[in-house]
Amino acid sequence: MEKQITSRLGFGCMRLPVDENKEIDMEQFKAMVDCAMENGINYFDTAYGYHSEKSEGAVKTALVDRYPRERFLLADKLPLWIIESEEDVEKTFNTQLERTGAGYFDYYLLHAVNKDRVETIRKFNIVELLKKKLAEGKIKRLGFSFHDTAEVLEDFIGDYNWDFIQLQLNYYDMEREDYKQQYELVKSRNIPLAVMEPVRGGFLARTVPEAQKVIEAAYGENKSASLALSYVNSLEGVYIVLSGMSNMEQVKDNINTFANPIPMDEKAQQTIAEVLKEINAFKVVDCTKCEYCMPCPVGINIPKVFEIYNKYEMFKSEWIIKDYIKEAEVNPAECIGCGVCASSCPQAIAIPERIAEFNAIAEKLK
Ligand code: SF4
Ligand code: SF4
Repeated sequence: MEKQITSRLGFGCMRLPVDENKEIDMEQFKAMVDCAMENGINYFDTAYGYHSEKSEGAVKTALVDRYPRERFLLADKLPLWIIESEEDVEKTFNTQLERTGAGYFDYYLLHAVNKDRVETIRKFNIVELLKKKLAEGKIKRLGFSFHDTAEVLEDFIGDYNWDFIQLQLNYYDMEREDYKQQYELVKSRNIPLAVMEPVRGGFLARTVPEAQKVIEAAYGENKSASLALSYVNSLEGVYIVLSGMSNMEQVKDNINTFANPIPMDEKAQQTIAEVLKEINAFKVVDCTKCEYCMPCPVGINIPKVFEIYNKYEMFKSEWIIKDYIKEAEVNPAECIGCGVCASSCPQAIAIPERIAEFNAIAEKLK
């Protein structure tokens, strides 16, 4: 019998708990997996590159080695940016099977497809190669995650009869025409949709204080993440909502949200509209902390700089920047403007320019 997904909440393994040495805290992760499994969450999503290539191994230890294979569904992703030949596909896929110990992948994705990577996929016949894995039973469903424009998506979507597609969706991004078009396109083709970044890398869970107040007035304290998750959960065509969980509290909160989602009625629509008005009043860098831009050759922690930049814009406290610069391993003023980072950013952030803006503010605060 085909395995069924037992919760619309999927466990994203890209922001796992880490210890003081930045290593994955396996004991905590195991406890989180146990809590998830006990509460009917059986969909786990990892990728070759997550946690500096350690997420797949952690999933093996915390999940694959501890639960019967038929009890969970595992999604893994092919890192297109390292593929330089057809042989690389085979080699990488086998490495992933070995790292996870999973035997097969219930869901397998071409990771972070964009215009350049569509070329890679076509050049190295990647879809054909993966169709063989489907035939061998090593992949049960084939799809892709996507970070580019609706135009690129429309061009690529016809390359295969995809079993699913993973898109970045949340109420903040859905305000933009291009994201809306992507969603409508996938829906119109009746392709099941996996949602990533439902709280935009945590931004919608801890957003600007004015927006938090709006949510609090409507639904009570600490409901920001719940509102964001309930929104995507209500969208037609969505089969799973992935949340990158970093601690037990988030696991429990998310379980509660999916057990009792906020209804997307008029009140919710109005609340979201007011929240967006408050958020848009601030100048924010749209960073989701995915870390695809890393490592920076001079060692700048790019997502951290943008987190600080956003915080500063919200609270206008100069200590936010001053304290960061004091503690940062590498001062963002060291940026050499090489631009290596910008080409990898799925949010198309002009990273060197935004870092330069940050540095100009820091300079003035000196
Ligand atoms: S432009 Fe600056 S932040 Fe980006 S990779 Fe180069 S040095 Fe690092
Ligand atoms: S700057 Fe772009 S690539 Fe880097 S972490 Fe933020 S969203 Fe990801």
